[in-house]
Amino acid sequence: MAHRPLRKGLSGFEAVLVIPESLLDGILASARSGAPREVCGWLAGEGGRVERIYAVPNVAESGFRMHPEAQLSTMREIREASLDLVGTYHSHPRTPARPSVRDLQLGSYPDCLHLIVSLVEPAVRAFRISGGTVRDVEVVVE
Ligand SMILES: [Zn+2]
Repeated sequence: MAHRPLRKGLSGFEAVLVIPESLLDGILASARSGAPREVCGWLAGEGGRVERIYAVPNVAESGFRMHPEAQLSTMREIREASLDLVGTYHSHPRTPARPSVRDLQLGSYPDCLHLIVSLVEPAVRAFRISGGTVRDVEVVVE
């Protein structure tokens, strides 16, 4: 966190999600240990670059819904760390890394990217979901 790379020259960061491999490995590990339930949380960083993962308990029996109070306190924590909310992440233990019908209906964070890690493909993909419309977002693992 001490030295953040400047990414001012990164054009159209909205279409790209940059995530360090170590953080992605952390998400995959929690997805495996949380299976068959989905795990979820926030990606925080700057612009479209993820610098920290914040896990939030999933209160849904199937699919995911972040624990409301934990979600709020996590968002506060991210603000206090002077990081941006880059997006959400959640796992698909038994389905491909595509938004489910339920994910589309949620659509509750239209300005956010949604990273989905699948344990069946295995694959990692990101999307922007707005008003039922899904747009692919390129994931760059570094
Ligand atoms: Zn999903």
